[in-house]
Amino acid sequence: MADIIKTPATERPNLLGLIETLPDYVFIPDRHRFEQKAALIKKEGPENLGVIADFDRTCMLAGPDGYATSFNAVKMVFGHGSDFQQTGDMLYSHFNDREELGSLTDEELLTWWNATLGLYGWYGVDRGTLNEAARISNPRFPDTPFLCAREGFSELACLAARRNIPFMIFSAGLGDVIEESLKLHGIDMPPEMIIANRFRFDPMSGKVTGYDGNMPITSSGKNGTVIKAHDTTGLITTKSNLLLLGDSLGDAAMADGLDADTIIRAGFYLGEKTDLDRFQAYSEQYDVLVCGDHPMTSIVEILDTLTS
Ligand SMILES: [Mg+2]
Repeated sequence: MADIIKTPATERPNLLGLIETLPDYVFIPDRHRFEQKAALIKKEGPENLGVIADFDRTCMLAGPDGYATSFNAVKMVFGHGSDFQQTGDMLYSHFNDREELGSLTDEELLTWWNATLGLYGWYGVDRGTLNEAARISNPRFPDTPFLCAREGFSELACLAARRNIPFMIFSAGLGDVIEESLKLHGIDMPPEMIIANRFRFDPMSGKVTGYDGNMPITSSGKNGTVIKAHDTTGLITTKSNLLLLGDSLGDAAMADGLDADTIIRAGFYLGEKTDLDRFQAYSEQYDVLVCGDHPMTSIVEILDTLTS
């Protein structure tokens, strides 16, 4: 905080033009806080910055009812109305609303993730199913993939690459689906920069037999400890500043436990504007809010301004 106060006004980035031209669906809850953080990040340069982004409903569009996630993409492979989808949706409707409110216990989340694994085992999900989940079309818009990148995501990844800023995907979704989806969107991201749930496969049948690792990453388990365990090259963990992108309140805490000094949190608020308690909670946790299932082009402009 002391560093923030000491930062002379003359060294603060000229964000005025950028802030004034943001579209009306982008909201900066506390302009003073945002400008202070932006000043510090700008001052320390792109070499001290990393990006951590959630995948489902953040890098990808959320779709109607927020249903377009990597887990739900696997259900689409089995088909609308299939036993697989109906069973998966029973689990989804039992847990999802309370997950979004952050009121599920860690044990309940593990139960959900492990029940899903059981479903995959029972129905013989294999690598081909997961690749198909990344490719499958949106039933409403056949030329569009069900997992469809938010406008601006590719530009954000490219800008980070051009400025030598490490970009990490951190997801409680399905790593195999995410990796394939990124490839299909033409986004080149090395596997070590994707932290998500990957599977073990039976060497003979090729079917899913378990999560790769001791336990799955659930939405409550996304934190700096997990990042430290995976980021063996230190590309992200050594950065003093971070740009973080997420859509849930839990995502705002994804970097908790890392040693970063300054974190600008950009959130995708998919709730109702009339839900004042929820909107207030997002406004406290996030520095920038994209409200609704809108592009992330403003986040690209912010990254550009911070690092140019
Ligand atoms: Mg998400």
